[in-house]
Amino acid sequence: PAIPEAPEVLAPRRRSRQIKVGKVLVGGDAPVSVQSMTTTQTTDVNATLQQIAQLTAAGCDIVRVACPSQDDADALPEIARHSQIPVIADIHFQPKYVFAAIDAGCAAVRVNPGNIKAFDDKVGEIARAAKDAGCSIRIGVNAGSLDKRLLEKHGKATPEALVESAVWEASLFEEHDFHDFKISVKHNDPVVMVKAYEMLAERGDWPLHLGVTEAGPAFQGTIKSAVAFGALLSKGIGDTIRVSLSADPVEEVKVGSKILESLNLRPRKLEIVSCPSCGRAQVDVYTLAERVTAGLEGLTVPLRVAVMGCVVNGPGEAREADLGVASGNGKGQIFVKGEVIKTVKESDIVETLIEEALRLAEDMPES
Ligand code: SF4
Repeated sequence: PAIPEAPEVLAPRRRSRQIKVGKVLVGGDAPVSVQSMTTTQTTDVNATLQQIAQLTAAGCDIVRVACPSQDDADALPEIARHSQIPVIADIHFQPKYVFAAIDAGCAAVRVNPGNIKAFDDKVGEIARAAKDAGCSIRIGVNAGSLDKRLLEKHGKATPEALVESAVWEASLFEEHDFHDFKISVKHNDPVVMVKAYEMLAERGDWPLHLGVTEAGPAFQGTIKSAVAFGALLSKGIGDTIRVSLSADPVEEVKVGSKILESLNLRPRKLEIVSCPSCGRAQVDVYTLAERVTAGLEGLTVPLRVAVMGCVVNGPGEAREADLGVASGNGKGQIFVKGEVIKTVKESDIVETLIEEALRLAEDMPES
């Protein structure tokens, strides 16, 4: 059989060294992975595992859980053991929880050098424990909790300050011959964040975890993250991503996956090509597109469905898609693989599209 062509991407990936986060490879030629973070109390093991299962089903590759107390640390072994995807423990303030997370079998530990007490003195010990356990580390520099020394030096969390913090902490791990770490330099301003990652990418071959921190509610956070990740990923920068939203983390995974799909960095799944409607529309395009999207939710095959409001661009787009409708005069012309297969009443368009989509999906490989 013919070898399928690799999808076109905007730039080759930056050459980063590869690390392992449990079973997931990060960096090098590994696919860019999607991360999210649980919002349950970590001590509530059942609720946390249930949310991890939902995130996994939505396409999450790696999950992070907060570990702010001893009770949370005590819950980690069970969560790490039963999670379907690698678990990263998120540690602030207390170095003892770093060791607890490593002992618990977490795939990785996120440390924030800016707010872990006497972190620099502990790096050797952390590096040894992590190496022995096959656990990787994320050095997670964050604008909101930058090291005080650097804040004083730079005046605020500039890209230079974020990068200086990250490079310093990376050098401490490297002095202890520990290299299984990735780095993030998050800021809530996409411009500062993009500059910081661009600078960091020039300074070493560390795998990079992208994030716009505290990006806001779903609408704003989606746009900020898409713009910032798009700017970096389109230059090949970024090995793993997390979209931070003040919303259900499942939404974070959906947005993150869609960003990667849009850039051909993850195989495309269902794609609805729908027109914005205009004064020429002869059907209610919004309702039509919404109902088709809802009816096909969860489809995991790379199907392109065009929902078009009139005959200007309708037949063209519908013909280009796997399946489509060009509407007009109370009717819809249904296209499959470029050919009109039937014309149906407006009231039957949604049902027909869903029926045909499911039929086509049966013969398609899952992406
Ligand atoms: Fe307007 Fe027709 Fe284009 Fe939709 S396809 S935006 S209705 S011209």
